[in-house]
Amino acid sequence: MSEHDTPVELEDAARNLGAELRGKVLLPGDAVYDEAREVWNAMIDRQPAVIVRASGAADVMRAVPFARKHGLEIAIKGGGHNVAGNAVVDDGLMLDCSPMDDVHVDPQRKTARVGPGAVLHDLDVESQAHGLATPAGFISTTGVAGLTLGGGVGYLSRKHGLTVDNLRSVDIVTADATFVRASADEHPDLFWAVRGGGGNFGVVTSFEFELHELGPTVHAGPVVWPFDDAPDVLREIASFLRDAPHEVSFLPILRHAPPAPFLPESVHGELVVIIAMIYAGDPDEGKRTLAPIAEYGDPIGDALGPKPYVAFQSMFDDAVGPGARNYWKSHYLADLTGEAIDVLCDHAARMTSTASAIGMLSLGGAVARKPHDSTAYPHRAAGWVLNIQSRWDDPEDDQRHVEWTRELFEAMATYSTGKGLRQLHERGRDRPDARRLWRSNIRPTRTGQGRVGPRERLPPESEYHTSDLMSRRPRNEITDTD
Ligand SMILES: Cc1cc2nc3c(=O)[nH]c(=O)nc-3n(C[C@H](O)[C@H](O)[C@H](O)COP(=O)(O)OP(=O)(O)OC[C@H]3O[C@@H](n4cnc5c(N)ncnc54)[C@H](O)[C@@H]3O)c2cc1C
Repeated sequence: MSEHDTPVELEDAARNLGAELRGKVLLPGDAVYDEAREVWNAMIDRQPAVIVRASGAADVMRAVPFARKHGLEIAIKGGGHNVAGNAVVDDGLMLDCSPMDDVHVDPQRKTARVGPGAVLHDLDVESQAHGLATPAGFISTTGVAGLTLGGGVGYLSRKHGLTVDNLRSVDIVTADATFVRASADEHPDLFWAVRGGGGNFGVVTSFEFELHELGPTVHAGPVVWPFDDAPDVLREIASFLRDAPHEVSFLPILRHAPPAPFLPESVHGELVVIIAMIYAGDPDEGKRTLAPIAEYGDPIGDALGPKPYVAFQSMFDDAVGPGARNYWKSHYLADLTGEAIDVLCDHAARMTSTASAIGMLSLGGAVARKPHDSTAYPHRAAGWVLNIQSRWDDPEDDQRHVEWTRELFEAMATYSTGKGLRQLHERGRDRPDARRLWRSNIRPTRTGQGRVGPRERLPPESEYHTSDLMSRRPRNEITDTD
């Protein structure tokens, strides 16, 4: 018997639960149990007592009280991309929403209803069939659910805001298994909280997004320069961006060059600087606008040009596929200053894995235009979000890569906006507390209802959690591993 074996009484109760569901209950030893508990980051190896593979809201409404009755912590899985592995919990109940991946687009209203198991590719493909899109991330296998609940940043954010700025409503099962719709008009406190507050306010069973006209063809792609040029190239794009239209978005990446066909073989595996860029508007206008950057200095190669937005959205998927060990940290930066660039380049030169990367996404524009307290997302003033992404395969190498990541994270703390992820880090790696993270933006009494969610379910020390059943790990981080 292993320490994670499910007790017999719980097993019996879970099998009975399974008989009431459209979806499935999976227990240790069941055929697909191990596959279901797997998440994107291979460092995460947790063993839930029970996995509920939900097929619809009704399954969620049954699973939540079951967990409460049996005292099980709940972890919710959407796309499974959370780097910290928040989608899976030892000895608790894992609610796997991945089968709920429907996307319904209403081209007249320009809206999409999206299930919590959908990934970005599902949303983009369905929306782009009508020449529509909403801002979301740039790796197409990321889950819509976790990304949205953390705020959601991507190439379209400067033009159309965060993913949550385009959220019209959610259907959500609260901790007492009540099914409610939250929007600006219904349960507005809850709606405020889910927009950037993370995933512990209940289980979202459907998201409704506003869509915008885009493409389907956009002027987009990566341009690559030698690593020695990185300090100049990064200064150039940071300066360009200050006056650029909000259609322009940059994703600079310091990493070893992939064996991409548009790059000469001689640079494959060498450190380079890649600037992925997009003009989210008319492709001809995009070509003119981005020309000064595309032609800056002596690029080694580029794949910039007109292409389907959906293709651009999955262009970097292979670089961050599932199955590798990952340790990621992030900061929000007010600006990409010359000094910050020098620190980044200096650390990049000492990168410990050829699969690792330092990525920065430009923000500002529509993200910064919304009032700071309009949603729970607290980082609107940042000009850039920095991700330090360590990836490797051999568990023996863990310490080396983790140390490199933490060193750079600490070195960049000076340039951080000082909110959010940095505070999380300062609190200590072992007991991060999501409430500290959002303190500046917690306003649960907005409408005078006093609390978010049913009062009697709140743990006494917290105003912000709907349930002590939901995992206590931080929920609103984007990529931080600890
Ligand atoms: C390769 C990669 C690329 C990324 N790119 C971006 C990017 O471009 N932009 C960006 O903003 N972020 C990005 N992220 C971060 C990503 O948004 C978060 O990791 C997010 O948590 C992933 O969502 P998921 O549904 O795939 O994750 P999961 O691990 O399935 O879920 C994460 C957490 O979200 C909550 N959650 C999930 N589903 C529900 C639900 N139905 N109801 C309530 N809570 C729920 C739970 O707390 C869960 O533990 C990226 C991450 C990776 C690994």
